[in-house]
Amino acid sequence: MLNWADVDTVMFDMDGTLLDLHFDNYFWETLVPRTYGQRIGIDADAAWAQLRQHYHALHGKLDWYCIDFWSDKLQLDIQGMKNAARDKIALRPNVLPLLSRLQAHGKTVWLVTNAHPGSLDLKMQHTGLRNHFQHTVSSHDLGLAKENAGFWTTLRQLEHYDPERTVLFDDNFNVLARARAEGIRHLFGITLPDSQRPPVQHEEFICLHDFEQIMPPALETSDHGR
Ligand SMILES: [Mg+2]
Repeated sequence: MLNWADVDTVMFDMDGTLLDLHFDNYFWETLVPRTYGQRIGIDADAAWAQLRQHYHALHGKLDWYCIDFWSDKLQLDIQGMKNAARDKIALRPNVLPLLSRLQAHGKTVWLVTNAHPGSLDLKMQHTGLRNHFQHTVSSHDLGLAKENAGFWTTLRQLEHYDPERTVLFDDNFNVLARARAEGIRHLFGITLPDSQRPPVQHEEFICLHDFEQIMPPALETSDHGR
């Protein structure tokens, strides 16, 4: 599936790849409509119908991922609401074993996310994952979403990586297609980004349901052969 000897840099998306997308789907599709509806005096279904249109119009644009944008547009404390709902943030299966194994193999590991820096910080604090990454990048710092033309080449100017020797794991197929167009060689999707929704597949990209499927081999211990 992947020869790890061909890889120096391992890039991970956050939501739906390392973390269960259930938190985000619950937040944006249940909690935000309910709270927004209460604020303007309509029921949650009517609020969801309104919000869906907004979400749809902005899909794939940086604002769609922006806490400040939605706080302003909906007049809600989105960051405060996320902080209050943090107990629903959860790791996907075998994330920690994979990250530890990659470290043991000396790979350079990046987190590259469309999440707003406020959301990124909350999730890193809650999961304790931050120290597993040499680089943590929010697309908001580049002014482009990962699925936008030029993101991956711009990223390369900020921090060097060799796209021929890089693997990207991301549950967003538009992101994978954009990364491929900009030269990233090894690409994998995620079968079950939200543990509470049906699995997804893609014709062009191999999708993993569990990182166990792609785990590099355990290294021999240092006292081997003594
Ligand atoms: Mg994602």
